[in-house]
Amino acid sequence: MPQQYRLQRERMIEWLRAHYRISDERVLRAMAEVPRHRFVPEALQSNAYGDHALPISANQTISQPFIVARMTELLEVNADSKVLEIGAGSGYQTAVLARVAGSVFAIERIAELAREAQRRIRELGIYNATVKCFDGTLGWDAHAPYDAILAAAGGPDVPEPLLAQLKVGGRLVMPTGQSRESQRLVRVVREEKGFAREDHGACAFVPLIGRYGWNEN
Ligand code: SAH
Repeated sequence: MPQQYRLQRERMIEWLRAHYRISDERVLRAMAEVPRHRFVPEALQSNAYGDHALPISANQTISQPFIVARMTELLEVNADSKVLEIGAGSGYQTAVLARVAGSVFAIERIAELAREAQRRIRELGIYNATVKCFDGTLGWDAHAPYDAILAAAGGPDVPEPLLAQLKVGGRLVMPTGQSRESQRLVRVVREEKGFAREDHGACAFVPLIGRYGWNEN
């Protein structure tokens, strides 16, 4: 992995640890290695390690580093895990997941973003993640069931197909809420019978648009 911006990356990790209390060392190591500046528009590269989201193309955003760390930590994945990601966007979260999980199947509804995300990931020599373009609210049945599912866009509720594609014992993390602009971060754990749901606080993501999400307009 490139050494450029290494200092900024290390400072970001220290901030995640000290201020946000991220403690999963595997997640912190992955974020120390993935060059976040390669996932943002060139003009914004020097801001890539700040404590905020940034705009990418097609009116979408790359999530704040803290949110990426928190969601990844909540998924509790290891090198054997198979992960489904909805809303690959820039591909940054995909790259982080690929460093902590066994395999990652990522979906992005905007073709241009999906193509770019896949290209960046390959350029970094990551081969255990695939990005495809379609409606992620339907999940990706061909590779189900998953140990973990992450959605980086906010919908009115957790899409039924995603619950159906989660293994027993598996974790799903996604923002949900009745408004398109602000949500609660929820974690759903599949149990033998039914699902346990936890609230992990307020958040603000771009809308999840699709069959089991919001309408286009
Ligand atoms: N984790 C990404 C965040 C991208 S923002 C990153 O770090 O860059 C969320 C993304 O979800 C947007 O790119 C948006 O196009 C995508 N999205 C919204 N609804 C979707 C759907 N139904 N299926 C797949 N992707 C979707």
